[in-house]
Amino acid sequence: MNIVLIGPPGSGKGTQAKKILADFDFIYFSAGDTLRNLVKEGSSLGRKVAKIMSQGKLVSDQLMIKIIEDFLAKNKGPVIFDGYPRGLDQAIFLEEILADRGGVGLVINLQVPQEVLLDRLSSRVICQSCGTVFNLITNPPQKESICDACGGSLYQRDDEKPEAAKKRLIVFNEQTKPVIDFFKRKELVFNVDGNQSIGVIYKIIKERLVESGFTPVSA
Ligand code: AMP
Repeated sequence: MNIVLIGPPGSGKGTQAKKILADFDFIYFSAGDTLRNLVKEGSSLGRKVAKIMSQGKLVSDQLMIKIIEDFLAKNKGPVIFDGYPRGLDQAIFLEEILADRGGVGLVINLQVPQEVLLDRLSSRVICQSCGTVFNLITNPPQKESICDACGGSLYQRDDEKPEAAKKRLIVFNEQTKPVIDFFKRKELVFNVDGNQSIGVIYKIIKERLVESGFTPVSA
């Protein structure tokens, strides 16, 4: 079975996904990372996507369908979805495409107050090379502007500058919250208070995954 990590921008989905991946045998799908890689290719599609992302808006469902189909064709095991689905049509599509691959078994919903999110987004920097995320206040890199993990250079994403960050929160409230209700009706949602330390949040998530029958690789 597959799991979905859902929560507003800045709620720590990517950070928790990396921790889950270190302990459990999942394949990781990050919608945002996939789109950022597409942008890096510099094609005309990449340029269109960059513009939409920098405004904090969502790219089209059709593009996301292509991306998901392509990903699932290449990756056969259970998947953690981070950043997908972000709208009701995407949720319905995901359920359909996963129907013969174990379906969506658990939706981990990271809850963080809006004012904390805006603070987090404005102090967040990301590694250009490996995508590791740092927070200049709560989790700074050891050397300024240099990634601890790979030595790559750190930058602030365009969509984390104040205007775009606010727009992303609006998009989350309007388009992604209904996805949480959709999965709640199916009793798949596990709410987690995301306004705690990374380690405490992960401990709660890990316990829930074990309860759901997932076995840590290291166990
Ligand atoms: P993220 O890194 O998950 O916060 O995503 C960064 C940006 O990528 C979002 O603000 C959107 O512009 C775009 N994006 C990510 N996931 C999706 C999705 N499922 N559907 C449409 N656009 C998306």
